[in-house]
Amino acid sequence: MNEDEIKEIKDLLSSPKNIVIVPHRNPDGDAIGASLAVYKYLKNKGHKATVVSPNDYPEFLHWLPNSKEAFKYDMQNRQSQATIDEASILFLLDFNTLSRVGDDMQKKLETFSGTVIMIDHHQQPDDFAKYLYSDVSICSTCQMVYQFIEKLDDLERMDSTIATCLYTGIMTDTGSFRFPSTTSTTHRIIANLIDNGANNAKIHNKVYDTNSYGRLQLLGRALSNLVVIDKLKTAYIPLSQKELDEFNYQKGDTEGVVNYALSLKGIIFAAIFIEDTDQKIIKISLRSKGKFSVNKFARAHFDGGGHDNAAGGRSNVSLDKTISNFLRILPDYKKELLHSYED
Ligand code: 5GP
Ligand code: MN
Repeated sequence: MNEDEIKEIKDLLSSPKNIVIVPHRNPDGDAIGASLAVYKYLKNKGHKATVVSPNDYPEFLHWLPNSKEAFKYDMQNRQSQATIDEASILFLLDFNTLSRVGDDMQKKLETFSGTVIMIDHHQQPDDFAKYLYSDVSICSTCQMVYQFIEKLDDLERMDSTIATCLYTGIMTDTGSFRFPSTTSTTHRIIANLIDNGANNAKIHNKVYDTNSYGRLQLLGRALSNLVVIDKLKTAYIPLSQKELDEFNYQKGDTEGVVNYALSLKGIIFAAIFIEDTDQKIIKISLRSKGKFSVNKFARAHFDGGGHDNAAGGRSNVSLDKTISNFLRILPDYKKELLHSYED
């Protein structure tokens, strides 16, 4: 985003507008944190803003400020459509290809004739937005939103609500400030967010220490399902719909589980395969350490994408078939897997 574009956006936002903010489907802490932060920032500037999420997000993010004000496109379809029809500006946050909002909402957004602003840190953005702020080196969309507000010379509009939302997204997308994308700039921004009223201890508690009994039991099952392929430095976890049902699965319960597979000594590639009989897909999450790009792997084999070290995708065949496909593909990457990461 260049100086001219920043000036144009400043001009655009200098008078009250009707604005819709959209995160990706199944929003995570970064997507919904960024959306609710932009929502409050725009409200502080005097705009009418509405977050329209494609669908609901996990319970452990419901406490976020103004969460209840957000529409869910799938559940509140009529209001969501009307709100999009009335808007003249659309913010797309934490995704870069329209398919990430799901088929129905994608069709609706394709008809949008106003100004589109996209802020995102994934690779290979589509050419859809008039204003694209894309940077794959930045750890989170929430950090980019902070820097976007800074570019607009509006940091004095930061308040504890915005700070709380941005802190949450940066924390969740960096694995609590431990992934390589966490920089000294990230920590400086985090310090500013704390100074602006983000209660760090409380946010960690709300996100990480509110597990249900069922979720921990499901984690136990996932860990006992773990399969390790030492010679390819790979580990994976299958989870069937039957197992999810057994532990009263709630949205978000499997979030982060794949990281346990990656925490094994010597493992640099981890996958989780989660059966979803409603959508008739296997949802796949992939994580890696070092140079092995799970973004490329997901794009090449599982209709997905993401970042070099964290990506996702899907498969339309059964859980068993998906895993046998995975195991068939894996040896092709042997060289890369063995030389991806030096301790
Ligand atoms: P997760 O495994 O936590 O669902 O996602 C990891 C990363 O990959 C996130 O940044 C997410 O946005 C991205 N991602 C997950 N699933 C997909 C997908 O199906 N397509 C694309 N393009 N990105 C995905
Ligand atoms: Mn993100």
